[in-house]
Amino acid sequence: MIHGDSDIGEPKVASAARYVERLNPDIDVERRETRLDADNAHELIGAYDLVVDCADNFRTRYVVNDVARLEGVPVAHGAIYKFEGQATTLLPDGPCYRCLFPEPPEPGTVPDCATTGVLGVLPGTVGCIQATEAVKLLLDAGEPLGGRMLFYDAMDVSFETVSYARNPDCPVCGDDGIETIAGIDYGGGCRVDAD
Ligand SMILES: [Zn+2]
Repeated sequence: MIHGDSDIGEPKVASAARYVERLNPDIDVERRETRLDADNAHELIGAYDLVVDCADNFRTRYVVNDVARLEGVPVAHGAIYKFEGQATTLLPDGPCYRCLFPEPPEPGTVPDCATTGVLGVLPGTVGCIQATEAVKLLLDAGEPLGGRMLFYDAMDVSFETVSYARNPDCPVCGDDGIETIAGIDYGGGCRVDAD
């Protein structure tokens, strides 16, 4: 929704910042033109009240989950694939993403958006749900989507919510969970390893 044809060739952080400034000039946008990875995630995530995870690759998604958990930062998660989307909110005291999906899929087993494609409006639908979760969390209002995964199927216009609980065997937040991400191999996890 926030990147247009005229933005092609520009970093997404630039077109995203421009969109937000146009939407509301009172918002103070801090641009971080860098790739989030295990080396800078603590510094980047720990400095904020909330993460909205719009990552298009598994490596970033798992780094965000793990570091946000260690930093006690909630995450509004969203993901899309072809005609389907999903959203959940990872609260610091609730189940994490690895409680559902302990490890990323092996590199090469899951095609990425550049290969499979995604319905153009789908990121807007899922992104607006994430934005709603973000506003609710910051206002401490309503019931967040914690411990629940919302599945959206655009083809038959169905929304389904599935509850999930903390997994005691979760490699991150389980009984023998981690205290640091040092030593975790995040690998590629993405079919096309784009810069
Ligand atoms: Zn967990």
